[in-house]
Amino acid sequence: MYSTRFLDIPPLVAAAGTVRLPGSKSISNRVLLLAGLCAGSTLIHDLLDSDDTRVMLDALRALGCGVTDADGAVRIDGIGGTLAIRKADIFLGNSGTSTRSVTAALAVLASTQGAQFTIRGVARMHERPIADLVDALRPLGCVIEYAGEPGYPPLRLGDGAAHALNLDGPIRVRGNVSSQFLTGLLQALCLVGNGHDVVIEVIGELISRPYIAITLNLLARFGVQVRNDDWARFTLPAGRRLTTPGAIHVEGDASSASYFVALGAIAARAETPIRIEGMGSASIQGDLAFVGAAQAMGARVRLGENWIEVSRGTWPLNPITLDCNHIPDAAMTLAVMALYATGTTRLTHIASWRVKETDRITAMATELRKLGAQVTEGEDFIEVSAPEAWRPAAIRTYDDHRIAMCFSLAAFNGLTAGNGGGVPVRVLDPQCVAKTFPDYFETLFAVVTPPAGSVPVITIDGPTASGKGTLASAVAQALGYHFLDSGAVYRATALAAMRAGARADDEPQLAWLARHLDLHFGPGRILMNGADVTETLRCEEVGALASKISAWPMVREALRTLQLSFHHVPGLVADGRDMGTVIFPAADLKIFLTASAATRAERRYKQLISKGISANIDSLRADLEARDARDQNRSVSPLKPAGDAMLLDNSALTVEASLAAVLDAWEQRRPF
Ligand code: C5P
Repeated sequence: MYSTRFLDIPPLVAAAGTVRLPGSKSISNRVLLLAGLCAGSTLIHDLLDSDDTRVMLDALRALGCGVTDADGAVRIDGIGGTLAIRKADIFLGNSGTSTRSVTAALAVLASTQGAQFTIRGVARMHERPIADLVDALRPLGCVIEYAGEPGYPPLRLGDGAAHALNLDGPIRVRGNVSSQFLTGLLQALCLVGNGHDVVIEVIGELISRPYIAITLNLLARFGVQVRNDDWARFTLPAGRRLTTPGAIHVEGDASSASYFVALGAIAARAETPIRIEGMGSASIQGDLAFVGAAQAMGARVRLGENWIEVSRGTWPLNPITLDCNHIPDAAMTLAVMALYATGTTRLTHIASWRVKETDRITAMATELRKLGAQVTEGEDFIEVSAPEAWRPAAIRTYDDHRIAMCFSLAAFNGLTAGNGGGVPVRVLDPQCVAKTFPDYFETLFAVVTPPAGSVPVITIDGPTASGKGTLASAVAQALGYHFLDSGAVYRATALAAMRAGARADDEPQLAWLARHLDLHFGPGRILMNGADVTETLRCEEVGALASKISAWPMVREALRTLQLSFHHVPGLVADGRDMGTVIFPAADLKIFLTASAATRAERRYKQLISKGISANIDSLRADLEARDARDQNRSVSPLKPAGDAMLLDNSALTVEASLAAVLDAWEQRRPF
């Protein structure tokens, strides 16, 4: 997951390959709650692992449910409708489904069994309405108090005394703000009064019906068949009892699929479509209907039971006018696809956008305009026309995962006529995707192709012990870029030579060893032939041999391809001796880092002492000066600053100050 302040996505031009979807959020959270409420054990396969499911799991734990990992699946041991814990403070983060469903279930249980709970969330959750649910539950005798602003969480449920509920008359709930209130009631009322039928009536319009369909489907899986009279009246039958299905499989998330359906429609060729696995025609999720909308805009689609293949059909895309009441979440993806359409796209019946993670109508309009699009917004609609001239933009994400995900698709702007090589897109606070799809950007980057020269490279070269490795890795981390420690590949070659008993002057054998290195770079560690060699590579003996064998042209040539292979989306920071001069001569920013020999000797000394290795500062200094001389005087790729490098002497700088200097220089070269 990217936890950087921003993520810059370079212009992209093509997409191909297979993506595996994370589990559906809607299904995961419903299944978790039902499994937690019913008796017995439920094994859940392919559960979504994200912020929204984590808060639900925490809530179940707080209620005394068993939560265990079972070979990658999750086992929930439910409370069987009887509270074991009678007082708890439950935090549900930014998860609307969890907040509404847990509130309904605990209001009913606390009121009938004499318990007391509080329900809280993040600040935004305390601005999202919940009055329709409270107003439906109070007439039954549920004890609910607003602990903050009336109409919004936080809430206090129950007063510690047991009350009988009145479930005789139809229970009435409004359905025009959020369908989650009805979902909450349907689940909660399985827990009480099962001696007779219970009827729920929807007052006025019921929006987002496909989400109710998911609820009904899953209740049936847990043994309760609800009668649905035209989406206006729902009857829970007498004798109902939530019963575990034993094991249940969560299908891939259809809203998450929308980004890859759009990706295929924008950038995949028919011969090499984007293949999306984990969801298809057999899905119970309403956002499957997004596929039809994407087809109307021009996508070419093949639909299997559990997969979707998408490629570009019509290009530019067709503008559409669509009532999006049935696909409110995926419709945001349509608003971004509209950037690639020939006219104005009009999405209507989306008033619910205003009470989601943020006011999504205003947020989408504001951010789309930054890219140059023409946008009109109304109380419950949005109209979008493609930019005449695209502008590089820093997209605010408002702690809304869907804004971050759908705007990543704006990086394909180079495919539109008259837009040259395209402009990059900056996504601010990209970690908000953790709500439903923590690996979204990694998944996207694995199936996209940038045009030549579009992926940025920052090089940091310098002499030994100048601190370039530390600095380069910090820059890479701050930008979310890949990191190449090129010294490590020379050191690995040296280690391979030592192990093979190769002579330091046997150039062909050293080159052969370099070409056949089995290296794997993981976060903070390096594996060679499957074994962790991170520490071994750092030892002086290996470094000294690396410095000798790196002078051989055949060795350098053998290691070139390996080094170039680090250069992919979203960008690269590479450190070494010849990154800016030989390996990445077209780098976007080149730093030549130096420090006085005395400073460097002292740093190396401290490093060794801290590891408990004895050292002598004078001989260290002599050794690194000899190494500098060798690196500077060799005939191939000698150590020297590139003509266009920025010189940075960090003798008197902290790592933070050097980092700030490089990030500042980088920012000045960015178009945002
Ligand atoms: O930077 P580090 O000390 O890990 O590098 C080990 C040796 O590898 C250096 O002394 C240098 O001779 C060689 N090297 C190189 N070109 C690079 C990186 C390292 O020649 N790009």
